[in-house]
Amino acid sequence: MKLDLTGKVAVVSGSTSGIGQGIAAGLAKAGATVVVVGRKQNGVDDAMAAIMSQNPAASLRGVVADLSTEDGVATLIAAVPTADVLVNNLGIFNDKDFFSVPDDEWLHFYNVNVLSGVRLARHYAPAMTEQGWGRIIFVSSESGVAIPGDMINYGVTKAANLAVSHGLAKRLAGTGVTVNAILPGPTFTEGLKEMLADAATQSGRSPREQADEFVKTARPSSIIQRAADVEEVANLAVYLASPLSSATTGAALRVDGGVVDTLTM
Ligand code: NAD
Repeated sequence: MKLDLTGKVAVVSGSTSGIGQGIAAGLAKAGATVVVVGRKQNGVDDAMAAIMSQNPAASLRGVVADLSTEDGVATLIAAVPTADVLVNNLGIFNDKDFFSVPDDEWLHFYNVNVLSGVRLARHYAPAMTEQGWGRIIFVSSESGVAIPGDMINYGVTKAANLAVSHGLAKRLAGTGVTVNAILPGPTFTEGLKEMLADAATQSGRSPREQADEFVKTARPSSIIQRAADVEEVANLAVYLASPLSSATTGAALRVDGGVVDTLTM
């Protein structure tokens, strides 16, 4: 199976670290020209340098934009008016008790995790349908179907990703544009390290050990019993972005190490 994205332009939101950077690297390796987006120039530069260090032939473009805002999305669209592949990866998370999350934090999570992807899909999908080919991927989470009691506002936004993705797939029926969601489980990224930083300090564990311990204690249904690596998650997104995935749309695909304990989905 050869995943060939030569000639395609791929926009990956939140691609200056973690899963987004991994997906950007994977898409570039498959031959796409990848647009790396982050809020700060140095973050974008560092991510592009990291990808190039592994793959000097990578075709990359960098855009600085805060995609949690309407203006930031407009900045990206002005720089990159069309795309063949859109990966809505941008997302923030923390563990916080329901009773400590005020309205403005709920709204911030909604803007970053949901509206960013809605706005980007609304812009990029019509030209994809005109050309008869496109791929839209939402990075949801196992927390979107197994809502953690201490991450309710996050879980709600990840469930919303699944709803938007499924509905949009139907809206784009017969156009050649597929829309899918992936559900990573705990994945060893900067975001996860940050969430577990206090626990790691208290326990004296390394960030990696703390991430694996988190899986064993907070997500005990995990079959792999460890945090996934970024590349393991990115591989599924790269497949979905490729022409080979043409019969998969409206799907929610797990790359969660078995955390969601169910036969289907
Ligand atoms: P991360 O925090 O490691 O990386 C997120 C990236 O987004 C960073 O580059 C950050 O600078 C950027 N970013 C943050 N706010 C931004 C904004 N407003 N505008 C532009 N860029 C912004 O995150 P991650 O762990 O790689 O998570 C990526 C996605 O995967 C998220 O949607 C998350 O919900 C999902 N996910 C992660 C895990 C996990 O365990 N890491 C598990 C399931 C799902």
